[in-house]
Amino acid sequence: MLICTHCGRKYPAEFLRCPICNEPLQLPYFEGKIKKGNKVWKRFADFYPFTLLPKNSLGEGDTPLLYLPKLSQQLKINIYAKNETQNPTWSFKDRGTFVAMQYVLNISRRVGTVSTGNMGASVAAYAAHLGVKSYILVSKEIPEEKLAPIGIYGSEILRVMGDYGELYYKSIEVGKEKGIYFINSDNPFRVEGYKSIAYELAEKIDGDYVIIPTSSGGLFRGIHKGYVELKRSDLIEDIPELICAQAAGCSPIYNAFSQGKERIERVEHPNTIAHAIRNPYPPSGNAVLRILKEGNHCEIAEDHEILEAQKELAKDGLFVQPASAVSLAVVKKLVAQEKIEKGSKVILVLTGAGLKYILPIRINIRDCSINDLSRCFE
Ligand SMILES: [Zn+2]
Repeated sequence: MLICTHCGRKYPAEFLRCPICNEPLQLPYFEGKIKKGNKVWKRFADFYPFTLLPKNSLGEGDTPLLYLPKLSQQLKINIYAKNETQNPTWSFKDRGTFVAMQYVLNISRRVGTVSTGNMGASVAAYAAHLGVKSYILVSKEIPEEKLAPIGIYGSEILRVMGDYGELYYKSIEVGKEKGIYFINSDNPFRVEGYKSIAYELAEKIDGDYVIIPTSSGGLFRGIHKGYVELKRSDLIEDIPELICAQAAGCSPIYNAFSQGKERIERVEHPNTIAHAIRNPYPPSGNAVLRILKEGNHCEIAEDHEILEAQKELAKDGLFVQPASAVSLAVVKKLVAQEKIEKGSKVILVLTGAGLKYILPIRINIRDCSINDLSRCFE
């Protein structure tokens, strides 16, 4: 059973949006106890409506939580990184794909998604693993180098002309016609996968702030749902403040939040280096706004701040995609504004790896000759 995040009406599991208010649906809140086990899916099995079979897994989840000493010292806060680049296809999407695929296996042998890169690779990999045919719809603007990590798994890649925000709705419509189940960005079962990030964080740290790069809103909703379930189960006392981090060049949620609006509006000309969070009309945007009103916050960063933050994370040994670096860029702003107090425990969700998009990286190389190599070190 699914519940509308806005009106609370209930629907069968195959629905993807509320037909009355067109808002996203979610599974009910689950409560339970933590079990013993080396995988998050086993430890938190009480919080899932069906068994998550290990044979369907590619080893997603249980990613490292790292303390970042240099940045912590510099900003006079305690910064931790939840390193989601360690997932099987190098992004957090794998958690959602793993859980959603268990549902898909019961209803269809054909699956699809709309992607800017990470989700396409994730769905393609799990579909290949499970012997399900997959269709990945990408936008015309996707950099060529992002397609190989999708194509390698044998998916059908469809490059679609037109508005990326609109493609989400269109894919669901066509999917119904053709019998293809679309596990897009904020699919209810996908969100169930993302909530495992909150579980893993709560096991290790009593954080003050969790910074979440936000595009469709699925990840933000998932982490929030996870914390709410832990609180309802008396497993944590307080939910950390969740910070929605967007790129200034495409910030529909921030725009509505900062103007006190109830609903997001489409960004007409999205333009940011952080492609993975460039969604001009996020399908869970209004749902995120509702969560933000519960005492959470939203902030943006410019492209130059994002690229600077990407370099700074690399100084602590982490190479992330620009969309992930938005989290640090936003923290620096919030510390400067004294919105984040000195000494706070701040967790950056590093959503995806840098290797998938290396074009914007500028590096220094010195050319040397083997014959006078020693001179190169002078
Ligand atoms: Zn509704």
